[in-house]
Amino acid sequence: MNTIRTTCSYCSVGCNFDAVLDDQGRLQSFRPAVDYPVNLGKSCPKGFHLMSAFQAEDRATRPLLRDASGSMQPVSWNRALTVFVERFKEIKSRYGPEGMAFISTGQMPTEEMALLGALFKFGMGGIHGDGNTRQCMATAAVAYKQAFGFDAPPFTYKDFELSDLLVFVGSNATISHPVMWNRVKMNRRDPHIVVVDPRRTKTAAAAHTHLALKPKGDLALLYALTHVLIREGWVDRDFVRDHTEGFDELAAHVGKYAPEAVADTTGIEPQAVRDLARRIHEARAVSFWWTMGVNQSHEGVRTAQAIINICLITGNIGRPGTGPNSITGQANAMGSRLFSNTTSLFAGYDFAKEEDRKTIADRLGISPELIPDRNSLPYHKILERVAEGSIRGLWIIATNPAHSWIDKNTLFERLGRLDFLVVQDLYHTTETAVRADLLLPAAGSGEKSGTFINSERRLGIVDKIADPPGEARTDFDIFKAVAERWGCGELFASWTNPEAVFRILQRCSAGRPCDITGIQGYRMIRERGGIQWPYPAGSSSEDPERRLFADGRFFTPSGRARLIFEDSRPAPEELSPEFPLVLLTGRGTLVQWHTQTRTGKVAELNRLSPENCFVQVSPMDAKRIGISDGDRAEVSSRRGSVVVDAVISDEVKPGEVFMPMHYEETNRLTYPAFDTYSAEPAYKHAAVAVRPAPAAGPAGGPVTGGFHPDRR
Ligand code: SF4
Repeated sequence: MNTIRTTCSYCSVGCNFDAVLDDQGRLQSFRPAVDYPVNLGKSCPKGFHLMSAFQAEDRATRPLLRDASGSMQPVSWNRALTVFVERFKEIKSRYGPEGMAFISTGQMPTEEMALLGALFKFGMGGIHGDGNTRQCMATAAVAYKQAFGFDAPPFTYKDFELSDLLVFVGSNATISHPVMWNRVKMNRRDPHIVVVDPRRTKTAAAAHTHLALKPKGDLALLYALTHVLIREGWVDRDFVRDHTEGFDELAAHVGKYAPEAVADTTGIEPQAVRDLARRIHEARAVSFWWTMGVNQSHEGVRTAQAIINICLITGNIGRPGTGPNSITGQANAMGSRLFSNTTSLFAGYDFAKEEDRKTIADRLGISPELIPDRNSLPYHKILERVAEGSIRGLWIIATNPAHSWIDKNTLFERLGRLDFLVVQDLYHTTETAVRADLLLPAAGSGEKSGTFINSERRLGIVDKIADPPGEARTDFDIFKAVAERWGCGELFASWTNPEAVFRILQRCSAGRPCDITGIQGYRMIRERGGIQWPYPAGSSSEDPERRLFADGRFFTPSGRARLIFEDSRPAPEELSPEFPLVLLTGRGTLVQWHTQTRTGKVAELNRLSPENCFVQVSPMDAKRIGISDGDRAEVSSRRGSVVVDAVISDEVKPGEVFMPMHYEETNRLTYPAFDTYSAEPAYKHAAVAVRPAPAAGPAGGPVTGGFHPDRR
């Protein structure tokens, strides 16, 4: 028997599992690691069945190339790589380096992301590449960077256990991050738990206080809280004086956000705001936790910074049980933020700064001329360029935008305008893969090695448990093969395997806030149960739980944290008599991951989640509309209509409905607004109508049913 420990590749919790293999290498058991400091022997059902998803019949096992008749035909890797290089080189020569782009993922190991980013930008000479982390974490990254001077989540999971007051904003942790919620339940301080969410989610129901605010009333509510804290003098004046800048301006700004003045916007009784402010003042350790309810907003960055402001002015940062804490979405979103070479140069350097390009070039041993002097366009701008026809070749890796992109109906047409679409994925059946000109079959996380970085900045090991099927290759091997075929293989001669790339990234991180030069290889990460950054050379700490900013020093030039604010704006899409309801979207179940690309292959998980897409409607609205629980309902927005199951539930208030993100119908309705600073899509607010479904959909009428390969 052989035991291999690996990190789950779904969410950002970063649970570790022990895979036990028999002498023939067959998997005998897959169990949560009891002694790993993240999950402490716990996991959610998705992780338990991680390896099952890789056994699906629709795994891509050979490269597929679209032929003249439009059908996909198996081809050799040699042919696939030849076509890849010929077509992209042709596009580059006709339309320049801006004529091609890539969209990648928060699901690959850091080393693969880094190789892709270096290959595309330094080797192939491209400029534009972004990740699907734009859809979930860009807001938090920008908020931290502007406030702290670096994208630096300050917390460690132990803080869940050490808080006296935990405030979850736009976070349904019991569903989205159940293992973190388990850490909350391990808190022995009898903490008070507050949930700020328009819906009465499972987390809200488990909390002591639920502030069921109006959709997108969050920024005004946070400013109202700040108003009360400052007016009452419930401020840590020493911390504000010594470690922040902009307090007087913030105090003036929130002067107009008295709880009474914004009650219509927030939907929250002024007394409830004052009560929460008092609790913040009286608690010894207060922590705020936010996820997509904040991030996926037209003003998400300022909302996240309003949370950061509250923690700063009350001194709730850098101490046990405190912090403005963004919970990440995908397994390696943090790795993507630091080392994917997409929106920032390696280790948070800036493509646009000559000295930064020179530093990275020196550390990589390459010419600075190879590094683009511009930052990449963000995801939605890349798609706009595709629509305009100036980006003609697109390489999509380990993500499924034809399901997940906001207002996705427009995406189908855009992808159709490309001269060349390459999809690199585990399955040939995803909504995006079926539109590809070339499909490159890739290995899953249990079939390769590298590192992930979880929400608390912990590097964990991903290890190979099984071989990929057929001719599927690791993303690492695919990138290396592309480099050779492109003619830039020499540039990556020392990037021989994931651990060699890890050492290269360590060099890039030297002297940065995310310095990891003190980690002595994968073995040390394994032995320590993961290691949080920073871990610079000379570090000796073996503390498995470390947090940032204990000394009150931030990464800004002044060393002070910035208090940043801006007036709240209404959600971009207005309600109307035709579309009178607010559509909220989010995770609908513990057992499905995002677009169900992997979890939808697992029978045990499918049995625990609804097969059809559904819309939650309040009892009052259902009565007015004339639908009952289990009826089919037509949900329409200005972008189209879908027919789904109706679920009558008091989880949503009158005037609001909810649809889960896991079904392809949902993003046919969402409204394409984006945060001003992070360019993150605002998935959480669209104007819709709900009515009883027509008895039979006419041709060209509403979309019905869902597309899922295992559920057709
Ligand atoms: Fe842990 Fe998240 Fe994986 Fe579930 S999906 S096992 S919570 S890492």
